Amino acid sequence: MFEKLREAFSSLTKVISEKKLSEKDLDEVLQNFQLTLLESDIAQEVVESITDSLKAEMTGLSVERSKETGSLVREKLRSIMTGIFTKAGTVDVFKLIDAKKQKGEPFTILFLGINGTGKTTTVAKVAYLLRQAGYSVVVAAGDTHRAGAIEQLSEHADRISVKVIAQRYGADPAAVARDGALYAKSHHVDVLLVDTAGRMQTNQNLMEEMGKIVRVVNPDFKIFIGDSLAGNDAISQAQLFNKYTGFDGAILTKTDADTKGGAALSISFTTNRPILFLGVGQEYKDLKKFDSVAFVDSLIA
Ligand code: GDP
Repeated sequence: MFEKLREAFSSLTKVISEKKLSEKDLDEVLQNFQLTLLESDIAQEVVESITDSLKAEMTGLSVERSKETGSLVREKLRSIMTGIFTKAGTVDVFKLIDAKKQKGEPFTILFLGINGTGKTTTVAKVAYLLRQAGYSVVVAAGDTHRAGAIEQLSEHADRISVKVIAQRYGADPAAVARDGALYAKSHHVDVLLVDTAGRMQTNQNLMEEMGKIVRVVNPDFKIFIGDSLAGNDAISQAQLFNKYTGFDGAILTKTDADTKGGAALSISFTTNRPILFLGVGQEYKDLKKFDSVAFVDSLIA
């Protein structure tokens, strides 16, 4: 996982700590570093922010390049990354659910994302996690466009013993979500999870449809699902959903297969929203709470 980014950080630290570099050498080293960051799916604006900040730090240093300089760079990298995650904040979804539960109302979570990113699987994983934590859950099959979407969600739900609220294909997704909300309220269900369609990120209709669902359902929480393997596409999808519907946090899928590692940092930086969980496999249990400190540590070890 995330080998490429880890390698980028460790080779920068190594070069800086082992060689005495002129300012010109340093420029060249930082340029190479920029390229490796871009190849590791770090978005351009994040790359610039990281290297500008590093350059400012390094240029002021008149000391010999040494082991000390290496650890200084390492700490600088750590603080830049920690700063990005700290600015994006954290959120304890369980606490929010509990607050709503105390009022006797269901907590509604809307899932946003493009087809193929792992959205349906992630809805099932979240349902499973909530069931394991003792909450009652119902799922609304809001993707009424994609052939097979309703059956796929129903199959997952059957396996984890969660009820699905669905209508026919072509039905208004906002109406399905509203049915889900009515069911959850009348049956005193703790959490309603609403799956949605995800045709194309540039599809204006999709954004309008999401806007309509948000207005009708007024969810308590919106989660963007991003595929960590999708590189810059995942980042632009996150920005688009954030612009049109807004979201409260993101889940990154398929991180178990991600050799690059830049998606979490880029999405947090560009949307200023926290990463909540990482998808780390294809089973229901494969959803891991995102720990930014452990994440940064693993990159800078
Ligand atoms: P959707 O079109 O966005 O609803 O995507 P699906 O939920 O159908 O998932 C697409 C594929 O990605 C499926 O084969 C999933 O098993 C797989 N997938 C989803 N999440 C993960 C993950 O965290 N790790 C891995 N390795 N595969 C995943």
